[in-house]
Amino acid sequence: MKKYVAVVGGGVSGLASGLKLLEAGFAVTMVARELSPHTTSDVAAAFWYPDGVGPVERVRPWAAVSYAEFVRLTAVPESGVSLKPIVDLALKPFAPPDWLDMMASWEAVSHPPDRHGYRTVVPAIDTPTYMPYLLRQFAASGGQIVQREVSDLAELTAQFDLVVNCAGVWAGELVVDTAVAPIRGQIVRASKPAGLPDEIVHLDAEVYSTYIVPRRNDVILGGSKQRGDWRLAPDPALAEDIWRRCLALQPALKEAEILEHRVGLRPGRPEVRLELEERGEGTAVIHNYGHGSIGHTLAWGCAAEVVALACGQ
Ligand SMILES: Cc1cc2nc3c(=O)[nH]c(=O)nc-3n(C[C@H](O)[C@H](O)[C@H](O)COP(=O)(O)OP(=O)(O)OC[C@H]3O[C@@H](n4cnc5c(N)ncnc54)[C@H](O)[C@@H]3O)c2cc1C
Repeated sequence: MKKYVAVVGGGVSGLASGLKLLEAGFAVTMVARELSPHTTSDVAAAFWYPDGVGPVERVRPWAAVSYAEFVRLTAVPESGVSLKPIVDLALKPFAPPDWLDMMASWEAVSHPPDRHGYRTVVPAIDTPTYMPYLLRQFAASGGQIVQREVSDLAELTAQFDLVVNCAGVWAGELVVDTAVAPIRGQIVRASKPAGLPDEIVHLDAEVYSTYIVPRRNDVILGGSKQRGDWRLAPDPALAEDIWRRCLALQPALKEAEILEHRVGLRPGRPEVRLELEERGEGTAVIHNYGHGSIGHTLAWGCAAEVVALACGQ
């Protein structure tokens, strides 16, 4: 008999989990307050980067599973996934991060006058294409979508065999987890000027890291990592600072036109919470939240583990 599963959340964690559960034969209903394009996942830059949240021994295998899925998706143009060079720089002597071992190849690079880092190739996700694609795939695979707020997971455990909690930074309210806190990220979306190289540039040097992420039809300029800050309205002074930092890194941007300012609240947590909680009387919740700055990077690996936990039920 089919098991009925409710997935709370329509961001990338909920969509990837929902899709993999459908593939595994579960009947899945997604319950989400916001859907694309209004989730944090839509605001993300978003490129594969397997660093920034723990625990490292689980994060690396999840990122590796996602990498393989992204490579598969590069053959599906409507997914919005491509492979792109990344130049990752810092204002300190270069020490290769250990995860570079996962890459087929990489090279050390310098950027005048004093920045050092590496160049490699990573999956890049065009979220305006990818998020609607995942939503379409979910519906086409038989997934049901209910747009509403859940105030207590018990509302769903009463109706479904299993609940998967993918509520991002708001998961902390649903389960009273004080380890979850927002990491506010503000970006500037701009037009892509002629002469802008089709490569991601990331500089981890100042209070906030600076990044330039060319996409299909625009370029994302970032960024900020403001811990504990729930403000969703863009801050004009921060937008100017982002613009100044990106222009210093890539002068070709002076021809770019600013299109939009956006803010997303990353689900900050020292470690991703991915585990099964038995709630008695045959009810259970799988928690899948707290992916911080790398929720896109981890989504497919975490979804595979959600399915493994659901199958073990
Ligand atoms: C500026 C920025 C840049 C980023 N860049 C990258 C990057 O380059 N690479 C990368 O891997 N990641 C990146 N991230 C991080 C990534 O976006 C997040 O880790 C990821 O989006 C988290 O996805 P999620 O599905 O868990 O949460 P969300 O996308 O926040 O989705 C949460 C879902 O839960 C729903 N929900 C919450 N509470 C309730 C409730 N009570 N009832 C019903 N529904 C509820 C919401 O409505 C929403 O649908 C970036 C984030 C930001 C902000």
